[in-house]
Amino acid sequence: MNNCYSCRLWAGEGVRERGPHGICHRFPPVVTDRYPDGKFPRTLSTDWCAEWRPHPASEPERDLEAPEWTPMEAEPLDETTELMNKAIEAYRRRFPHASHAQARRAVEDLIDRKDD
Ligand code: SF4
Repeated sequence: MNNCYSCRLWAGEGVRERGPHGICHRFPPVVTDRYPDGKFPRTLSTDWCAEWRPHPASEPERDLEAPEWTPMEAEPLDETTELMNKAIEAYRRRFPHASHAQARRAVEDLIDRKDD
């Protein structure tokens, strides 16, 4: 399952670093009034985001004899994903202490309430 627990960018806390909380290292620490030195987002092992990355051990091995190896191009974001990212950014500007995952849940809750 593609969640924080299985993401190579996540450092789990707790017993044997399995969570339930952990630190996401996708982006540099975020500086806020509360954390003027910066702090990485803290997420639950069951959280996820579109930046999920597989662990190196699960990636297929490269053929070093192959003449050329090029990473896949990132696909452009679709309109819905871009709008979601803008809403999450807006939420985090309004609530700078919210983690990315918290902001995402808050935006999803707002969307769910609007659909009712
Ligand atoms: S928030 Fe995204 S990038 Fe960060 S650990 Fe979770 S899945 Fe990985």
